[in-house]
Amino acid sequence: MRAVVIGSGIGGLSAAIRLCSLGFDVTVLERAATPGGRAMVRKQDGFTFDMGPTVLTVPHFIEELFRLERGVPELDVPDFPPELLTPDARVTEGTSGGPATSRYVDIVPILPFYRIFFADGTWFDYDGDPERTVAQIRNIEPADVAGYERFHADAKAIFERGFLELGYTHFGDIASMLRVVPDLLRLDAVRSLFSFTSRYFRSDKLRQVFSFETLLVGGNPLRVPAIYAMIHFVEKTWGIHFARGGTGALVAGMVRKLEELGGRLICDADVEQIEVDDGAGGPAGRIGRRVATGVRLADGRRLPAQVVVSNADWAMTNLRLLAPQHRPWTPDLLVKAQHYSMSLLVIYFGFKAPAEPLQLQHHNILLGPRYEGLLTDIFDRKVLAEDFSQYLHLPTLTDPSLAPPGHHAAYTLIPVPHKGAGIDWSVVGPRLTEAVLTDLEERGFIPGLRENLVTMSTITPDWFEGPLSSWLGNAFGVEPRLTQSAWFRPHNRSRDVEGLYLVGASAQPGAGTPSVMMSAKMTARLVAEDVAAGVFADRAASAASGGAPTDLHAAAKLSRAAT
Ligand SMILES: Cc1cc2nc3c(=O)[nH]c(=O)nc-3n(C[C@H](O)[C@H](O)[C@H](O)COP(=O)(O)OP(=O)(O)OC[C@H]3O[C@@H](n4cnc5c(N)ncnc54)[C@H](O)[C@@H]3O)c2cc1C
Repeated sequence: MRAVVIGSGIGGLSAAIRLCSLGFDVTVLERAATPGGRAMVRKQDGFTFDMGPTVLTVPHFIEELFRLERGVPELDVPDFPPELLTPDARVTEGTSGGPATSRYVDIVPILPFYRIFFADGTWFDYDGDPERTVAQIRNIEPADVAGYERFHADAKAIFERGFLELGYTHFGDIASMLRVVPDLLRLDAVRSLFSFTSRYFRSDKLRQVFSFETLLVGGNPLRVPAIYAMIHFVEKTWGIHFARGGTGALVAGMVRKLEELGGRLICDADVEQIEVDDGAGGPAGRIGRRVATGVRLADGRRLPAQVVVSNADWAMTNLRLLAPQHRPWTPDLLVKAQHYSMSLLVIYFGFKAPAEPLQLQHHNILLGPRYEGLLTDIFDRKVLAEDFSQYLHLPTLTDPSLAPPGHHAAYTLIPVPHKGAGIDWSVVGPRLTEAVLTDLEERGFIPGLRENLVTMSTITPDWFEGPLSSWLGNAFGVEPRLTQSAWFRPHNRSRDVEGLYLVGASAQPGAGTPSVMMSAKMTARLVAEDVAAGVFADRAASAASGGAPTDLHAAAKLSRAAT
């Protein structure tokens, strides 16, 4: 049976590998010239920049993918085997990928996880080590040590229930969600993460340290439910990791794995429509079934398939790829009424290493003077404030091969409102970029930066909206908030079209590299369930009798000949 995956983000590639392991003949179609989606790579003047994700967590998820074989889907082995849950599961040195991973990519642990700089120039090194964490908390606010102990215990309970037990739950009906509501209430996991954190810490600095992480998956700490406190615990349990050569090396490894399993990736292939047969009867004789039959590309080529997986932005999957009459459950009004995550300005820059060592680490959070006010400006008021906070990535501290000798490759990411704010980024982008460079110099993060700058480029919300085809230029999909989580979040199995599945940041369980890998596994489970239930029985037969073209070019020829 044939499957098409629209988009080669980490979720799309993970789904494609899993569908190969289920025995599907899989083609991934990517509109860009290179794979990876948000995890694309930009090469410039001898520097290599990961454009998006840099913080890898849960290396076990990566190992699981690279372990798969054709016809061996491993969907029923435990999601979290007991050896992963020992107190010393965290990898702190050496290689963090398992034996299968190391055939494709070299993954190494990073310590500290983050250096978090406050506006007054002091910093907090978060590395998951209890003693070092407590010592730093004591320095900032001795009274918060006891609060941390309680925070730790309560966040652990949330992690155990919310991640280990429920992480892979597909909330396909409301009953599945109602079943977990009492637990979430008991764990106090439905209040906002910031308000949850504030219960345990008096210090503003510590409230920020223990709530900022959701920004890396598009969640506003002031609104994201406290179930996201599990991120803190995910990091603490399994550490933070980096792919040597950059996240792009992980993407390249995934493409190689896909091809070894018999799948194929076609770039510069912009899908324009998911084709649907809305008169399908099938053996069940149900009337009005809407069945995915394949995709049509912008250049007119067609690729028939029994299974279509969209890794494209959820809003755009609906608004652009599916005709309105084929989505009674997802009308335009509903799509546009969702709240979408914020967008980003990202500055990629290469510079000559200064003589004095930098105070920066591999992952740095550079907090500005305001926290709650700034978040409200970005997410609610949707205005571009004068001040900003940054996540600064300096991977050459771990892997000097990403820059010419004696140089650093870096990026800094600034959360900004999405395009619903109506900001003209062609005007504002260069101004904000200048302000950020000045900030990096004046606060002493990179002294003499402008003088030593060798190369620089930027992306703004226009890039997310244009090349990545994301509604309103969102950087992380549908915003994670209580009313857009679990059953309320787009399902992995389309409610509108049989044979259509949704994988990636906007679908369940959410954004971030581990989550989109989970999303792919949940989707593969649903496809396997549907195969077992005979959902594709009629279509498999008709495709076989039609000659089942196995590559896009053959398919294109066949479909053109037929029209
Ligand atoms: C700057 C940045 C930094 C981040 N940092 C981290 C981090 O450190 N750690 C972390 O865990 N997460 C991070 N994230 C989040 C994480 O990168 C994303 O949640 C995740 O990579 C999204 O993967 P995805 O599978 O949803 O696909 P995406 O990466 O969104 O890819 C979707 C793909 O679909 C393609 N596509 C869209 N429409 C079509 C079409 N019609 N036809 C063909 N192809 C199409 C797009 O071109 C794209 O390649 C970061 C995100 C950004 C933007």
